[in-house]
Amino acid sequence: MPAILVTNDDGVSSPGIHALADALKALGEVTVVAPTQEASAIGHALTLRRPLRIDAHGGGVYAVDGTPTDCVNLGVDVILKRRPDLVVSGINKGWNLGDDVTYSGTVAGAMEGALLGIPAVAVSLRRTPEFDFSHAAEAAVTVARAALAHRWPARTFLNINVNTGPPKGFRVTTQARRNHVTQIDSRVDPRGQAYYWIEEALDEWHPDGGRTDYEAVMEGYVSVTPLQADLTDYDAMETLDGVLKARF
Ligand code: MN
Repeated sequence: MPAILVTNDDGVSSPGIHALADALKALGEVTVVAPTQEASAIGHALTLRRPLRIDAHGGGVYAVDGTPTDCVNLGVDVILKRRPDLVVSGINKGWNLGDDVTYSGTVAGAMEGALLGIPAVAVSLRRTPEFDFSHAAEAAVTVARAALAHRWPARTFLNINVNTGPPKGFRVTTQARRNHVTQIDSRVDPRGQAYYWIEEALDEWHPDGGRTDYEAVMEGYVSVTPLQADLTDYDAMETLDGVLKARF
């Protein structure tokens, strides 16, 4: 039976992770290792300057007072004591599309699995007032089954985004580019000092002929983007080399 490690960034008590874990039990032995508290937008952070503790909740569920990346490492080294066959991160309350994946703790949990050489999947659902995780959980099981059966290129992991309602099918996508629409709400505290809230959910995405993750979810498909941790712009290398050689 395959061993499946499940994590998230919304925290161990988020209903999304339990919907995901319950659905994945059809495929293997599921162990949940998730942050004690919400760690959304924490990216790929690794906790190095304080100790970490594991709180066993029973039933194969463990809380770690750290980040999703911490959870994957402690899950593999301390709890499972071996590499699982699959890491799945989610189901996140809110999409992780396009350039936003760089902020995402959900995506980072899957990325850490991939960096450890384990097939890995991140799953995110559209943010709505009430969450129905059923379609996202079903999509996650379909992709997880494929990930267990097939070999991707090493270090590649999959980023799934799901809209509300029954999906039309799956679409393999690219990351959309985010147009610059970050909004910062400036306020003044009772002592006259300024403070700031970075506003979420104001993203605007650049369309690209239907190829992007954003377009796929807006058109009712499950978006599946193959991602890698290597951010090198290979196309830029020759030009950069020429520029540096010409100058120095
Ligand atoms: Mn989150």
